[in-house]
Amino acid sequence: MQEQAKKDIASFGLQELKKEMEGMGEKTFRADQIYQWIHQKLADDFSEMTNLPAALREKLDAGYEIRKMEMARRQVSRTDGTNKFLFSLTDGSMVESVLMRYKHGNSVCISSQVGCRMGCRFCASTLGGLERNLTASEMLRQIYRIQKISKERVSNVVVMGSGEPLDNYENFVRFVRMLSDKDGLNISQRNITASTCGIVPNIYRLAEEKFQITLALSLHGASQEKRRELLPVANKYALDEVIRACDDYFTATGRRITFEYSLVHGVNDMEEDAASLISLLEKRNCHLNLIPVNPVRETNYRRPDKKSANNFKNKLEKHGINVTIRRELGSDIDGACGQLRRRTMISENS
Ligand code: SAH
Repeated sequence: MQEQAKKDIASFGLQELKKEMEGMGEKTFRADQIYQWIHQKLADDFSEMTNLPAALREKLDAGYEIRKMEMARRQVSRTDGTNKFLFSLTDGSMVESVLMRYKHGNSVCISSQVGCRMGCRFCASTLGGLERNLTASEMLRQIYRIQKISKERVSNVVVMGSGEPLDNYENFVRFVRMLSDKDGLNISQRNITASTCGIVPNIYRLAEEKFQITLALSLHGASQEKRRELLPVANKYALDEVIRACDDYFTATGRRITFEYSLVHGVNDMEEDAASLISLLEKRNCHLNLIPVNPVRETNYRRPDKKSANNFKNKLEKHGINVTIRRELGSDIDGACGQLRRRTMISENS
C-alpha cells in the first residue's frame, strides 16, 4: 500500500492549523506554539519544538512534514556582498533565491515557481519551461533559510526570481498573508514587491485582496508591437488592457505601480521607444525602473552602453517621469533570473 503523503504543515495559516489540532483532539493553543516554532523561530523539524509533549511531536511527525530545503550552492559576490543561493526541494527540484544588502536593510528575492511558462525572450528561467508551482511554504522557506544561514534579519522581500507569481495565484496570496502575519516574520506588506509579466485577470483579483504590496509590471515595450516582440504573454493580454488593470490596482490600493523596462540594445532603447514610454507614463503616478538587460548565454540580446542608458533615462526625466536605472548587484555571480539554476542543470546533465 502506498504511504499517504504527509501534509505540508508550514503552508497552513494559523486558523487552519487550529482546526487541524482540533481534528486531532488537541488544544488549539498547540497550534499557536507550532506556528510560532515554524514561522518565528524558523524550526526545521518537529524535534526542535521542545515545549510540545513528545507524544504530540510523534503524531505530528506521522501526519505532517516541514518540507526540507537544502542549500545546494551558494555564491557570494566579491564586489557587493550579494549572495545567490540554489536550494533543492524534497522532490529534487531546484530554485534560486538572492540576498541583497542595501543601506536600508536586507532584501531577499525569491522564486515563485520551478521554471516558468511565460516564455519571455531574454529570460533564462523560462528556457526549460514550467516544472511546477511552489507551495506557500516553499516560498516562505527561501526567506527563512536565508535568514538562518546569514544570521541577519530580512526586511524586504521581492518576488522577482524564477516564475510568474500570478500564474501561481492561490499559493502566492497565501504566502503574502503568512509573510506579513504578526504571528510570523511580520514583514510589512509595504516592504513586499511582486513582479508580474501582466496576467490581467489576476491583477484585478490581487487589487481586491487589498494588500499594501507593491506591484511591479514587466513592461519592456511601450507599444503593443514592441512588447509582443519580447513578451509572448502580450499576445494574450494587450498593452492597453494591462495598463488599465495597473490603473485599477493603484486606485484600489493607493500603491504606485513600478514599471520595469529591460533595456535591450537595438530593440527597445531607441528614440521612438523613449517617445512612446513618455506618452504612456507621463501622466501616471508611477515609478519606472530601467534594467540594462543581463546577457543570457542562449540569447543574443545585448545591453546598451552606460552612456546611452543614461541618455534614455534623461529623456524620460525631462518629462517628469520618476525613473531609476537599477543598480546592478551580483553580476559576477549569475545575478540574472534563473541563470545559476540553469547553469547547474546544464552542467549536471552533460
Ligand atoms: N514573472 C515575473 C517575475 C520574474 S522576473 C515577471 O515577469 O515580472 C523579474 C524581472 O526581471 C522581470 O521584469 C523580467 O522581465 C526581468 N528579467 C528577466 N530576465 C532578465 C534579463 N536577462 N535581463 C534583465 N531583466 C530580466
